Order: sequence, then C-alpha cells, then structure tokens
Amino acid sequence: MATVEQQPQAAQNGGGNAIAVENPATGETIAHVPNRSADEVAELAARARRAQRGWEAISFDGRAAIMDGMRRWLVRNRDRVIRTIVDETGKPPEDALVAELFITTDEIKFWNKKAKKYLADEKVRPNSLFTLGKKMYVRYRPYGVVGVIGPWNYPLSNSFGDCVPALMAGNTVVLKPSEVTPLTALLCEEGMREAGAPDDVFLVATGDGATGAAVVDAVDMVHFTGSTRTGRKVMQKAAETLTPVTLELGGKDPMIVLSDADLERAANAAVWHGFMNGGQTCISVERVYVEEPVYDEFVSKIVQKTKALRQGPPGAPGSVDIGAVTFAPQSDIIERHVNDAVEKGARVVVGGKRREGQGRFFEPTVLVDVDHSMQCMTEETFGPTLPIMKVRDAEEALKLANDTRYGLSSSLWTKDLGRGEELANRIEAGATCVNDINTNYAATDLPMGGWKESGMGVRHSAAGIRKYCHGHSVLVTRVGPKREINYFPYKRGVSKALDRVLVMLHRPGRPK
Ligand code: NAD
Repeated sequence: MATVEQQPQAAQNGGGNAIAVENPATGETIAHVPNRSADEVAELAARARRAQRGWEAISFDGRAAIMDGMRRWLVRNRDRVIRTIVDETGKPPEDALVAELFITTDEIKFWNKKAKKYLADEKVRPNSLFTLGKKMYVRYRPYGVVGVIGPWNYPLSNSFGDCVPALMAGNTVVLKPSEVTPLTALLCEEGMREAGAPDDVFLVATGDGATGAAVVDAVDMVHFTGSTRTGRKVMQKAAETLTPVTLELGGKDPMIVLSDADLERAANAAVWHGFMNGGQTCISVERVYVEEPVYDEFVSKIVQKTKALRQGPPGAPGSVDIGAVTFAPQSDIIERHVNDAVEKGARVVVGGKRREGQGRFFEPTVLVDVDHSMQCMTEETFGPTLPIMKVRDAEEALKLANDTRYGLSSSLWTKDLGRGEELANRIEAGATCVNDINTNYAATDLPMGGWKESGMGVRHSAAGIRKYCHGHSVLVTRVGPKREINYFPYKRGVSKALDRVLVMLHRPGRPK
C-alpha cells in the first residue's frame, strides 16, 4: 500500500489525538496524522518566524535554487507522489499527473523565473509639485510567516502549489493541509528537506478546522483555498488580528454552447471538465446551457460519451477514468442535488446514484430538463454531475450564467470568435475561456481568482506573488532647501504664489 511510508512517523506523532486518513476508493485506513493543537501551531509559527530572516537573506537566486531542487525532487519521486495523492483522494493517476504534478512543477519553474522580476523595486515618477526631484520606489517585502490552508481535492497543486510564490517572495510558510488528505503535504515537507531548504522554512501543521483557525491566529498573512462557508470564517477570524487574507473559494461554473459551436469538441470538453477528478474541481463544469437548435445533438453526444466512462478504484494508468468521492459528506450533497432535481421534474439520462460495493463512488450523472429552481443549477455540487439546460439564445444563456452568487470560471463555445469574445466580456466571473475550459489555469501569467462569493485576490500573475508582500513606499530627498516652501511659518505672499500655481496647473476656467 502506497502510504505505509507515512504510518510509522504518523503513529509516532499522532498520539491519542490522531486523525485517521482513509483511502476513499477502498475504505481502508492508510495512515494517522497528528491533529495539531493551537499551542503546537503557535510553536510551529514561532519556529518559522525565527527562520524567516535567514530565508529572505539568501536572495531570489538562492531560493530559486532550492525550489528548483524541489521541482526535480517531485519529478524524480513522481511515482511515490502520484501514489500518495491517489491513495488519499481516490482519483485516477492521470488526474494526479496532469492537474497536480504538471501544474505544480510548471508553477515552480514559473515563479523561479518571474519572482525576481515581479518583486523588483518599482520606480515611481513624480506627479506633484511637491515630489519634483525626489527618488521614489515601491519595495515588495515579505510579510514574514504565511499560512496556507488547503482543501482536499488537489492536495499538491492547491496546497503546496500556493506555498511556492509565498516562499519565493521570502516568507516562511506553515501549510495546513485538509485533514482528509494530509499525506501529500507531509511528502512535500520531506521533499523540501531533501532539496536543501533550511530548517523551519516550510512546515506542515496537520489537523482539522481548529488547527486551521489556529494558523490564522499565528501567522502574518493567510492564503486560504476551500469552501465559501469556511472562507467566511477565515476572514472573520483574520479580522480579529487584522491579518491579510486571500480566498480561493467555491464555484458554479457555467458552460454556454451556441448553435454554431464545434459540438464534438464542446461535448468532449464538457465530459472531461465535468467529470475529471470526479467533478471535484473548483473550476469544473457545473452547469451547461445549450442553444435550442443544437440541444438534442449535444445531449446525445454527452450521453454516449458519459456511458463510455469507466469508474472504479484507481489502478495502473489507463485502467479507469473516474475515481472515488474523496470526502464522505460530499456523496450526500451530490445525492441531494440529484434527488432535488428529479423531484422538481428533471430527468436522469445517465447514472444518478451511488455505486454499491467497496469504496465510495457516485456514478457520472447527466441531468436534463433542469432549471434554476433546482439546487443542481444554483449550488456547488462538487461531484460527477452534468446538468444540461436548453436555452432560446445566447442572451438567455448569459442571463442564466450570471444568475449566481458565484463567479469563479466559465466557458463559451462558438465558431464566431468576435461574438464569442463580445459575449465572454459580459460574463461575471474571474475567468472565461472561449472554445476551451479552464486552460487559463495552466497560463501562469493570467490571474486566477473568483468574483462575488468565489473569492478575494488571485493566484498566478504578478498579483499572485505581490499578495504575499507588504508594499513599502520609499521616498528619498537627495538635496533639499533648509525649509520647504509649504513649511511653517505660513506667509501671505507664499500662500498667494501657491494659489497662482494651483490655478496655472489645473486651469479651472478652460473648457474641457
Ligand atoms: P473546506 O472549506 O471544508 O476546508 C478547507 C480547509 O479549511 C481545510 O484544510 C479545513 O481543515 C480548513 N478549515 C475548516 N474550518 C476552518 C476554520 N474555521 N478556520 C480555518 N481553517 C478551517 O473545503 P474543502 O471541502 O476541503 O474543499 C472543497 C471546496 O474548496 C470547494 O468549495 C471547492 O470549490 C473549493 N476549492 C476552491 C479552489 C479555488 O481555487 N477557488 C480550489 C480548490 C477547491
């Protein structure tokens, strides 16, 4: 079994207050990890704080060398990394390879190359009479200790992946992985040690929600990825200490298919982006709107492709397409959304129920005759369901796509690229792909984040590393008079002169 490596250490650390880690595809307990108390978290944060100055001092190049070592470590140890992810999530190895290893190693490479550029001092030009001749710049300085709190669906990319820019900016990091999938984070701790990271630069605090809350209390900045419900709690807690937070939260991503779309490509994309990782992706396709003339053809393609999917406990690469439901309570939510839809008049055309037998699986499910009175169209399902709704035209689709409290990602399908972009610009979401879905996540220079209740702040792009820094404005006067013109004592003549300068600069009498 894959995670036996972790068991002795976890057993040592776990004591009486350990959390059992389950393989959701088999139901077996595969490890125990400690449920860290608030005191233990404070101690970890104190260690990270002591290590921070040294880490910052080794410069971008020094940090990049170590992070590059970690990148190579992940690739050298890919079998073990993938096995660990697969065992604690129940996803097929392909989902771990593509959406976790590829993404995270690309991100490390990206930040190693770009961190220095994005965090270089920014020169500022004078825009006022009072700053003429001054030297001015913004310096980006690390907060100190960053707490990263992660979800269970992507234990590598949405946990360790978000630590990378924080570390590259010169922060030390305490990572609190999901209690459901903590083993990958512990593996990363080992990888960072072997890559040469100094002691306490990257620490993992395993534990439950209370451990997460303790992290918010103990660190200087928090990056949180998880549900909107918990995101609110994190923000409330952070408000007590005025700790800055960024939040990557839930979504209900719409896909709009217009009648001139390449239906075959759109259907393949809907099935992959709806069901990959068992539909447990924040930016998965959660609802589909199809223009009336192509609705039947599109649905029939989706039905045929969904029926061909193979589901079961993940084995060797190529053996199954869809894995398990990672988190036990998620099965109840998926089932509730399907039942609610059926009670209100929807039809299940593929799947629709839990699979009997060992492990925790929900069949890939296609729902039709759906509308916005149903939870499957308004609440985040976070499972292998694809509800498809017929719409009159693009305007109706757009209205429905925006009829949500979420605003994470979205997609629009048409061969008319000009129209596609025009409609895309009217979608209320952090990202929209035309004739693609979520590929923007792999474009690390595009900001990725949510609008409305899907989040605050972004990962990736310059903004995705500057968020881990204070902006420090520095102004230097090289030579100056003994007394500036506006200093005390105020004199009538000087005030009159300043008044004339103000009028001259802004010419209030001139027409616009
Ligand atoms: P969750 O909110 O239940 O838990 C996330 C993390 O928060 C876990 O580590 C948990 O232990 C911790 N936590 C719980 N209570 C806490 C508290 N009071 N204070 C601090 N931390 C606390 O989310 P989940 O079920 O693990 O993940 C699924 C959710 O994450 C979905 O809604 C999904 O859309 C979202 N998600 C979003 C993104 C994104 O980039 N926007 C990416 C992945 C997942």
